[in-house]
Amino acid sequence: MKKEITQEIEYVRIVGDERRRGETLKDVSRHWQEEKECYALISPHDDDVILGAGLFMQLAQREGIPTHVIIVTDGSMGYCSAAEKETISETRKKETYECYQSLGIPQENIHWLGFPDSGLNAYRGRRLALPTDRGQIAGYTGLQNAFTSVMRKICPTQCFVPTFNDLHPDHKITYEELLISLFHAGGAIWPELGSPIEKTPYVHEMAIYCDFPEPPTLRISTPDEFLDKKLEAICAFKSQKQIASLIEGVRASGPYEYMRSLNFHLYQPQKYYDTFEKKHYIRFVR
Ligand SMILES: [Zn+2]
Repeated sequence: MKKEITQEIEYVRIVGDERRRGETLKDVSRHWQEEKECYALISPHDDDVILGAGLFMQLAQREGIPTHVIIVTDGSMGYCSAAEKETISETRKKETYECYQSLGIPQENIHWLGFPDSGLNAYRGRRLALPTDRGQIAGYTGLQNAFTSVMRKICPTQCFVPTFNDLHPDHKITYEELLISLFHAGGAIWPELGSPIEKTPYVHEMAIYCDFPEPPTLRISTPDEFLDKKLEAICAFKSQKQIASLIEGVRASGPYEYMRSLNFHLYQPQKYYDTFEKKHYIRFVR
């Protein structure tokens, strides 16, 4: 039987009418910051970013880009039997290290924010911490407190986060709280959380369970070996029984991943001026 030709590593980025193609993310990027480049992948639950970016993380290691994984929740709602209730968080922590370390991410680059699984709504924003609160840093709690602190510590140039379109409220809340925190992190507020970052990171969203709200702008393709490694890494989450059905989906989609870059449309009044000029309209008829 003829052996199928293994495909090469390829990044394709679409920007307007322009189609960029290359073998590294740098090749298809216009704002690459060379040795400053550092990626932060924000995972509402421990397994989200392996599903959305398991190939991409392997390529980042190959390209020598420091890569961090930030896990927002503690996995405490992932139990499948009464006996697991007390131990599931610890079990998932071990599985998480095994998963991401197998892709070459060092243990010290895996960050736990420790917020309650399925309970993020109570941790929107930032407030003074009560003794029983989770995710305390510098006497405060809240997702904006934690994200601002971790961003100032890591100083990523690029962030990758599951899309707001996912149905799980933990994904929606993570997305919203992260984006505003990127602006907090670059400002002078809350000095106890560290020095401001120099530049707002470039943001990509990933699709985990639901489609992108608009078509993605970046496609990543790899040889099959990378897909095999991603599947093996997913299998580290042995305690998550439902993951078996996801594995089949990941295998069937082949060695491809998609991302969508976000543009922040900050208000610029001058861009509306021309809309009100008379050349566009007929005269006022009474
Ligand atoms: Zn999730």
